[in-house]
Amino acid sequence: MAKVVIENIVKEYDKGQVAVNNVNLTINDKEFVVLVGPSGCGKSTTLRMVAGLESITSGNLYIDDLKVNNVAPKDRGIAMVFQNYALYPHMTVYQNMAFGLKIKKVPKAEIHKKIIETAKTLELEDLLDKKPGHMSGGQRQRVAIGRAIVRKPKVFLFDEPLSNLDAKLRGQMRVEIAKLHQKLEATIIYVTHDQVEAMTLGNRIAVLNKGCLEQFDTPMNLYNNPVNMFVAGFIGSPPMNFIAGKIIVEDDKRYFVNDAGNVKFDLNRTLFSIPKEYDNDNDNVTLGIRPEDITISKPENGVSVEVSIETIELLGNEQLVAFTLNNKTLICRLPSNEQYLAQQKLMLYIDLERILLFDSNTEKRVG
Ligand code: ADP
Repeated sequence: MAKVVIENIVKEYDKGQVAVNNVNLTINDKEFVVLVGPSGCGKSTTLRMVAGLESITSGNLYIDDLKVNNVAPKDRGIAMVFQNYALYPHMTVYQNMAFGLKIKKVPKAEIHKKIIETAKTLELEDLLDKKPGHMSGGQRQRVAIGRAIVRKPKVFLFDEPLSNLDAKLRGQMRVEIAKLHQKLEATIIYVTHDQVEAMTLGNRIAVLNKGCLEQFDTPMNLYNNPVNMFVAGFIGSPPMNFIAGKIIVEDDKRYFVNDAGNVKFDLNRTLFSIPKEYDNDNDNVTLGIRPEDITISKPENGVSVEVSIETIELLGNEQLVAFTLNNKTLICRLPSNEQYLAQQKLMLYIDLERILLFDSNTEKRVG
């Protein structure tokens, strides 16, 4: 297996149209790294440059310390699994899996051994004589993964492999891919726009936005310590709530006050320090709080807010309650044992130990 280094990589498709803007990533041997971000942020382009399917405008790409910018895709030691499976429709599963090895002139007996071994791992044994047209989406994707595995690549590249599957199957395949990573001890770079897939699969996640790398970190660090509002809002579902406001100082105490001026939180009860430059500055800050950190029972450092319920989404084990606080809609995650009604007034608590603060102009995290 292998380490992949993406160094100052830029991709300009048309002059001035930068699809990938100076991205730096070091993917360690046996690591599972997910590239995630909204549609058009440059995930696929980055992956395709690693695969050699797209030229690199500037920067360097290394696989196992060897610069591969100008190495042909077939000589990079990578195998790619696509969203649309890209299987040969006229070939059986066995022939699809054998094809790449045949071209490489691997002896027949060895090909056979590898296919049988891989088919066992992926539970494809009963399908080896079938053609892709007679299989379900999930089965086809397993064949596409099998075809990648038999080639024993240094690096696996996955481009939205589960996007064409229904929600239940996607969940099952997610678990299978995670197991496969443990079993193969493979280096994997995996592209998805789905943050749940990213959180559950990645050892580390690279969050991309408009061609730029926003943060490269473990799932929990992205969740608990996002570097900016983009990452804070992208990771987590429902997303983090944001309340615009400013910091005021009264009697040597610092408070967050929202724009409407009727919500006031004592910042001395938070767990972090905030640079003093924001004190009494109308250059505002934005407070971030996750839906599960707005609660119905009072946490130790909770501060109460009276809200009016807008809508309720019952999810069985919990309910997502949307409410208005000064004309702004926020969402909290409450236990499902109580029943609430739209328009109902409710007392909720915001856990001051769990709030984050951002600079409203730069959107960077400041506390
Ligand atoms: P993602 O995978 O995150 O959805 P892409 O990497 O496919 O994003 O695209 C990044 C940007 O590059 C988008 O603005 C897209 O329109 C542009 N782009 C992608 N492929 C091409 C291409 N072949 N020619 C010109 N522009 C492209």
